[in-house]
Amino acid sequence: MKRIQNYINGKLENPISNQWLDNYDPSVGEVYAHIPNSGKEDVEKAVLAAKKAFKTWSVTSIEERSRILHKIADGIEANMEKLVVAESKDNGKPLALAGAVDIPRAVSNFRFYAQAITQFSSNAHENIGSKSINYTLRKPMGVVGCISPWNLPLYLFSWKIAPALVTGNCVIAKPSEVTPMTAFLLSEICQKAGLPDGVLNIVHGLGTSTGQAIVEHPEIKAISFTGGTKTGAHISRIAAPMFKKLSLELGGKNPNIIFADCDYDKMLKVTLKSSFANQGQICLCGSRIFVEKSIYEQFKKDFITKTKALKVGSPKNPDSDLGAMVSKEHFEKVLSYIQNVEKYGGKLLCGGNPVKVEGHESGYYLEPTIIEVGSNDCKLNQEEIFGPVVTLMPFETEEEVLAMANEVRYGLSSTLWTSNLNRAMRISNALETGIVWVNTWLNRDLRTPFGGVKESGIGREGGFYALEFFTEPKNVCIQYT
Ligand code: NAD
Repeated sequence: MKRIQNYINGKLENPISNQWLDNYDPSVGEVYAHIPNSGKEDVEKAVLAAKKAFKTWSVTSIEERSRILHKIADGIEANMEKLVVAESKDNGKPLALAGAVDIPRAVSNFRFYAQAITQFSSNAHENIGSKSINYTLRKPMGVVGCISPWNLPLYLFSWKIAPALVTGNCVIAKPSEVTPMTAFLLSEICQKAGLPDGVLNIVHGLGTSTGQAIVEHPEIKAISFTGGTKTGAHISRIAAPMFKKLSLELGGKNPNIIFADCDYDKMLKVTLKSSFANQGQICLCGSRIFVEKSIYEQFKKDFITKTKALKVGSPKNPDSDLGAMVSKEHFEKVLSYIQNVEKYGGKLLCGGNPVKVEGHESGYYLEPTIIEVGSNDCKLNQEEIFGPVVTLMPFETEEEVLAMANEVRYGLSSTLWTSNLNRAMRISNALETGIVWVNTWLNRDLRTPFGGVKESGIGREGGFYALEFFTEPKNVCIQYT
């Protein structure tokens, strides 16, 4: 059976304890690899390597750091097929999705930050009256931690690592234990790209032990975390007394607001994606759909028809719109919401059943599911389900829908469908989310701030925001005569 190894000080190695965890292929429900069950001692070894490497990496020229990031991107491109297959097998997502989105985006993340650093400049403030000048440097922080989730494995892993490395930090990174394979393959790519030993260390294992050891380590100065809100709160409690810098990208329960004056066909097509792409396991999915009353019945009918036509099947099948859910545990969690649909204040409109895929009978497949709800207060509209499950509800006025959209503890993203510019401006200004999409969804420009408000997190990734996060401003004031 394949063994994933830690990447510490430039070498691939077993965990010190020689303890291993099972890694599942969710499309068939079988263990296909083992991953290190790393402990504090592995994290300690990685931190020592990173501290040593920092002395040189932090003073390596921007051109050289940028060149190495481009080489890593080249390595991902050269291994595209292998990485696409690995991501799909580890996560259960359709091959086509991994090939169109996940792995190409990992390439873009490295290339984007390889270029962005060359444009990231310092400020100077001259004060002629007092004959002094202030200039503000952006210094790398030292050793930093990057912890990522399972839904977009290499995509989100590289989204953190690339800005952390290019700003001169040395990194201790942990991918989700549920989807560790592409991070492991990335270690081999980094070795070949000539990344100096110890600059990036990838330590595999459970969140509660390996992840916890990273967060607790006093020499790790910053933590960039993407994952659940509960985990984010736990990390904050540990990190706060050590005054660690934190970037937290957490859960969401995003509204998708549809007005009667929208481009109906485009809206319907995109809403199908924003509801069920990646089996609904994208933090940006629009899981609460609010539809203006005058088109509610029409939309309900069309949306159900389109949803029923979606094909759930093997991730390897090019016809599959939805693949497998990521794990048995997550599959059961999502199913439990559906099984309690009436108790939780909803009515099942379509889907809701596990799917038996021929030849993959033990895989974790679920029909795309639409639930009608009578009120935004219900559990189904207030809790993040993070699966192929959306709720539907009519509204009559702008004020009413805006209040419902904002009446939730999360604030990651929102989508708005209307052709009325004034309304689009009014509502996008008032929505309490970090990201608003108008007449589009998941339309990403890597220069823009990415992140949420309320319990969806603190801080922003993307563009110069991540470069700022991974650097410490230092002001120098010089007076002259
Ligand atoms: P999770 O919080 O369970 O795990 C995320 C990562 O944190 C994993 O690597 C895990 O091992 C680690 N971890 C768990 N406990 C830890 C601890 N005590 N200390 C340190 N690390 C620990 O989340 P998940 O189930 O992997 O991912 C799904 C969640 O991620 C959803 O809530 C989703 O909305 C969120 N998410 C948010 C964004 C965003 O950008 N806001 C993007 C993707 C996913």
